[in-house]
Amino acid sequence: MSETAENPRVPEAAENSPVSGTAEHSLAIRAAELDAADELAKLRDRFVLDETVYLDGNSLGALPAAVPEHVADVVAREWGRMRIRSWTESGWWEAPERIGDLIAPLVGAAAGQIVVGDSTSVNVFKAVVGAVRLAGEGRDEILVDERTFPTDGYIATSAARLTGCTVRPVPVGSLAEEVGPRTAAVLVNHVDYRCGRLHDLPSVTAAVQAAGALVVWDLCHSAGALPVGLDEHGVDLAVGCTYKFLNGGPGAPAFLYVAERHQAAFDSPLPGWNSHAEPFGMRPEFVPVDGARRGRVGTPDILSMAALEAALSVWDGVSVESVRAKSLALTDFFLECVAAYVPEGRVSVLTPLDHAARGSQVALRCTDASEVMAELIRRGVVGDFRAPDVLRFGFTPLYVGFAEVERAARVLSEVL
Ligand SMILES: *Cc1c(COP(=O)(O)O)cnc(C)c1O
Repeated sequence: MSETAENPRVPEAAENSPVSGTAEHSLAIRAAELDAADELAKLRDRFVLDETVYLDGNSLGALPAAVPEHVADVVAREWGRMRIRSWTESGWWEAPERIGDLIAPLVGAAAGQIVVGDSTSVNVFKAVVGAVRLAGEGRDEILVDERTFPTDGYIATSAARLTGCTVRPVPVGSLAEEVGPRTAAVLVNHVDYRCGRLHDLPSVTAAVQAAGALVVWDLCHSAGALPVGLDEHGVDLAVGCTYKFLNGGPGAPAFLYVAERHQAAFDSPLPGWNSHAEPFGMRPEFVPVDGARRGRVGTPDILSMAALEAALSVWDGVSVESVRAKSLALTDFFLECVAAYVPEGRVSVLTPLDHAARGSQVALRCTDASEVMAELIRRGVVGDFRAPDVLRFGFTPLYVGFAEVERAARVLSEVL
């Protein structure tokens, strides 16, 4: 690759490539070496991508190449020709649990504890109300990560009103001191969507449970990006979305995890006919089904589920641990390139440098961040802007390479 970069007969590469002897040149060589040694590099072929440096997979994952054909088949054959028979013969009815079991190993859960369906927002509602009901009498407070993604806070507040609780926003770092005998449930984002901080799931879970409360983790920015260990750390309930690092497509259905030990007592606030023990019995009284299916509500959105199921095939033979290792290497390298290229003081890094506290994104504070991101996108580097002054870059190790990371930092420095 370094040969190509210096080769004047490849005008495109030469034009985009740094001049020999510069910091850019040595980082470009390092990038090529890192790409050559990267065992996950070949996975990029499992996606539909182009020349754009796509650093927004934490908002909308790229399209896995297996999706279009599978969705076309579900539409043309299963729906078009088999019609209603597909509910049984094409496995439509069981899709929420079947796809849940595909997600389970990615978040460290044994089978039978995850269902897919509805949005993350709706699943936050099921999980928080469910957690308050599981916590039992005498607990009337819900603690919420004070920096939470807004929808979680709005829904927790409504869930509190419905269950006679109050909501108290608390910094995640103080949860261990703030959780107490009145706390029913604690809702925490595993990774802060804005700055990319990764919270310590094992210690927060242990502290919440030591106070007799239940913890609900929102895994939107960690599922598919890093090992979560839901079962290992004894998490009570969790939710997450599938259109970010799981690449399930725009508006892909979210997931709900209810630990097996809670399933028999889990009392969903949205009991629908799909959560009934005998859905086709059409009975007036509600009898909840056992297991993860209790988290279902109504008819599953099969076309979105089909896209998600095909998307999850990109994980065949891939471990989350290897993805995590590459994610840290990518974000380290991006920070190194930014430090080398961007004029001192022009941006400040909001993402923790400590690996144990870093998700799979880098957030940079920058004046004119909105205009800077618009210009980056015009120049083929796609991240996103979060008001008021944050440039956010997400790194999906399944399809982002080191040369792209170097190019993104270089284009950023040009724009700045
Ligand atoms: C992306 C995200 C959501 C999105 O919720 P939807 O209901 O899918 O719109 C919720 N919570 C967090 C923490 C997120 O990062």
